[in-house]
Amino acid sequence: MQSFSWCAGSRVVFGALLAFTVTLAAGCAGLWMRQEPVVVKRTQMHMGTLVSITAVAVDKQVAQTAIDAGFHEIKRLEQLLSTWIPGSEVSGVNQAAGKHAVGVSGETLELVQRSLDMARLTEGGFNIAVGPAVEAWSVMERQHIPTQAELQQLRTVVDWTSIRIDREARTILLPRQGMRIDVGGIGKGYAADRAADMLRKAGATGGVVALSGDIKTFGDLPGMKGFPVGIRHPRHEDALVATVDLKDEAISTAGDYERYFEQDGVRYHHILDPLSLEPARLCQSVTVIAKEGTVADGLDTGIFVLGPERGMELVERLPDVEAVIIDAQGRITVSSGLRARLRYP
Ligand code: ADP
Ligand code: MG
Repeated sequence: MQSFSWCAGSRVVFGALLAFTVTLAAGCAGLWMRQEPVVVKRTQMHMGTLVSITAVAVDKQVAQTAIDAGFHEIKRLEQLLSTWIPGSEVSGVNQAAGKHAVGVSGETLELVQRSLDMARLTEGGFNIAVGPAVEAWSVMERQHIPTQAELQQLRTVVDWTSIRIDREARTILLPRQGMRIDVGGIGKGYAADRAADMLRKAGATGGVVALSGDIKTFGDLPGMKGFPVGIRHPRHEDALVATVDLKDEAISTAGDYERYFEQDGVRYHHILDPLSLEPARLCQSVTVIAKEGTVADGLDTGIFVLGPERGMELVERLPDVEAVIIDAQGRITVSSGLRARLRYP
């Protein structure tokens, strides 16, 4: 069978990009043959990253329609959630910081609510209010190392506990001027979930939505159990730590190797410890598997901050959550429920 694979924790999604058909042992009873399912994969740029959507469906037409629906959902969510789009709902909330509450859609409200849940779960390791500090570092643009005084000034505006959500009025209030929310650490997982729902509703029997390394799967690749996904090595670009088959699960990786710069031998990357407001130092990469992309993406960032010990303790406590944590020294820890499922190269 033709190889078809995905990789968590990489901007590069490898695997065949072409549509192909897979022959199933046709369960023929009587006069008719069951139609062979098709697998179609398409890739586009959205949310600042490579998005690939794969659909398994009864025929090519249904697969293409499902993929269209998935991309449409991602584009719609980007218009609501992106801080790069001045007219987005999240930008509106940020512009009104310190002034007034802003009415938002159910989706924006849900994602901010889920972000606050993740913050509680990871004891503030995950923090959607950390945006002003992310900007102070602007790891990819200016490669600027902020002074302690600069970071100190940001302390009050990164306080996620002060964010106010009114579920009935469907509003969000950032009470202090200068506060900003940034769903960069969870939004791609959320978008993958929502797009996968759209694929299913459009008639796909299986599928994969991958926003770079944030991947949500449902159903099976024909002839297989679920979908095989590789976990990238944080220090060897083309090497995999392991491969795992995902079945109705999501996977997401937070790593220090994709957006970073080095100065005087020190690596400065894009995941900040909300306590120090400096790049989190305890991990090289954290891969989380969960039922939902929202949980996998929120937790990978939060656990990256918590570090391997507290992070793995949390994973072991949570049902339906597994993880591979690679610490600052390159040591790999695998959660108990995942060990038997990993295949090593
Ligand atoms: P990506 O897949 O884009 O690398 P991650 O899930 O690793 O995303 O999250 C990184 C992004 O999250 C950063 O670019 C920044 O916008 C935001 N971020 C950085 N530190 C934190 C944090 N402690 N909590 C929440 N979001 C964060
Ligand atoms: Mg994340």
